[in-house]
Amino acid sequence: MSLRNTLTVVLASPRGFCAGVVRAIEIVERALALYGPPVYVRHEIVHNRHVVARLQKLGAVFVEDVDAIPHGAVTVFSAHGVSQAVEDEARRRHLDVIDATCPLVSKVHRQGRRYAERGYSVLLIGHEGHAEVEGTRGQVPGGVRVVGSVEDVGAVEVADAARVAYVTQTTLSVDDTREVVDAVKARFPEAIGPELDDICYATQNRQTAVSLMVGDVDLLLVLGSRNSSNSNRLCEIGRKAGIPAYLIDDASEIDAGWLDGVSRVGVTAGASAPEDLVQSLIDRLSDMRAVTVETVGDVRETVEFRLPQVLQAAALDRRPAIAAAAQGSR
Ligand code: SF4
Repeated sequence: MSLRNTLTVVLASPRGFCAGVVRAIEIVERALALYGPPVYVRHEIVHNRHVVARLQKLGAVFVEDVDAIPHGAVTVFSAHGVSQAVEDEARRRHLDVIDATCPLVSKVHRQGRRYAERGYSVLLIGHEGHAEVEGTRGQVPGGVRVVGSVEDVGAVEVADAARVAYVTQTTLSVDDTREVVDAVKARFPEAIGPELDDICYATQNRQTAVSLMVGDVDLLLVLGSRNSSNSNRLCEIGRKAGIPAYLIDDASEIDAGWLDGVSRVGVTAGASAPEDLVQSLIDRLSDMRAVTVETVGDVRETVEFRLPQVLQAAALDRRPAIAAAAQGSR
């Protein structure tokens, strides 16, 4: 094999599933084992095409609107969270709800509610239209004003400039959000908020790992679906560093031309992308070139979130016992 044909794959660490995604997927799996299909899921449980397709095969039914769910059906809310209006509608329809909202998103909801209850106008730094933003908007009494950029901050109108608070979406770019927070504080010097702390540990760690590698690779490949916010932010880090960066759902989307003149390729995966996709990507690259693999980043993640109580005892192979246990605890 000539040197010209070798390709070094630089793997970002950490990458892939975060604790909120692991919990959300496990909630759907356990609900299916406990209650049997169908289990309805409001919105994609996490923004990944492969995860959704696998759960669909197991009997999950994904809907955008709770109106589409039969009365009384077992229903899971996605990791992105939902508005109060969706919760109310689910109650009206007597849906049997298991909430897979990531605890770090719920924390932002509580924070926004506290600010609103204290009389602050709440700015939500985030991407208009994203499921998490819609959920947070609808959890804050009186609503929020969504600001996605420094320009938005300049244009936003508030009732009292001395009583402004802000919260942020959990999956934003750390660097971009710092600029927006600075703009909020410049325009509203008394504004209060969490600085960058609402951006979750997983988002921050994945961005840090990619930042460490982009100066040392010719190309960045990010495994993740188009609607995955944190995956898009990882791609942006590559593009801002001046290298080509592509967001791909899986190895089948690689264009061989991307590798022309490339000797080092960075690979990472968004927080909702399964690790087996990373291995398949390396296999595909190995079919094309002689591959060696290096890893960059040394943060070890130990975060775990508890399952909802009703599902905690639900070992997947013990359905009858679980059903009895659940009757007593639900
Ligand atoms: Fe929770 Fe962060 Fe994962 Fe979103 S990306 S599910 S906020 S841990």
